[in-house]
Amino acid sequence: MKLAILFSLALLGSVGVGRAQQAGKPEDTEVWSPVPKVVTPGKISGEAPSDALVLFDGKNLDQWTLTSDHAKAADWLVKGDILTVNKASGNIETKRSFTNYQLHLEWRVPANITGTGQARGNSGVFLASLGEGDAGYELQILDAYNNQTYVNGMAGSIYKQLPPLVNPARPPGQWQTYDVVWTAPTFAADGTVATPARVTVLFNGVLVQNNATLLGATRYIGKPEYQRHGPAPIKLQAHGDKSEPLSYRNIWLRELPAAGQ
Ligand code: MG
Repeated sequence: MKLAILFSLALLGSVGVGRAQQAGKPEDTEVWSPVPKVVTPGKISGEAPSDALVLFDGKNLDQWTLTSDHAKAADWLVKGDILTVNKASGNIETKRSFTNYQLHLEWRVPANITGTGQARGNSGVFLASLGEGDAGYELQILDAYNNQTYVNGMAGSIYKQLPPLVNPARPPGQWQTYDVVWTAPTFAADGTVATPARVTVLFNGVLVQNNATLLGATRYIGKPEYQRHGPAPIKLQAHGDKSEPLSYRNIWLRELPAAGQ
């Protein structure tokens, strides 16, 4: 009897229970083209790959302009491969505009930072700048190491919208990384949102925004709202708080095709 059961099980196994046999050959479902383009990765993690547009490599601000006046050069301090916020001059943004992209940047809150809450090492990267001031979608930059504030305003948040999933912040004085995948919103002919913006953010290599849907552009007061726009610059914030200014380095981007392309 036992033998008969074992034999039956063996027989079932041989015909692949749970793995229905389909007609055709294995080769029928192989795809050979188009062949993905070869990209040479950086030698170390965080280094720009061969197809990246380098936005800041430590040498100059050629890719940047003042947000308030596109006729003026960005005048933040460039020294020793590092870019430091000039709070007196205001926000800076890229000369070029982008739609969907992968972005890498590194930032550092000074070791001697003072202040509390939102007034402690505040900057930010606007994933699409929609004009002067804070118009756009802000991925917050702030000291988040033992610094209490509202959670949808801490580092790794989409400001006043999406708190980070976790807090992987390093202490002031240490370099931190953001790796962002930004999918811009699309708009119908009448200006209404066709598909909302989506964002994925790795903060120091840790996932803090997982293909999250944005409710609209950042609002300091009131609810986020969409307004129709096309390709947009990327903006760095010169926040008006009194604490010591942040620094940036190694900023690069890879433009991505729209979904389905
Ligand atoms: Mg900010």
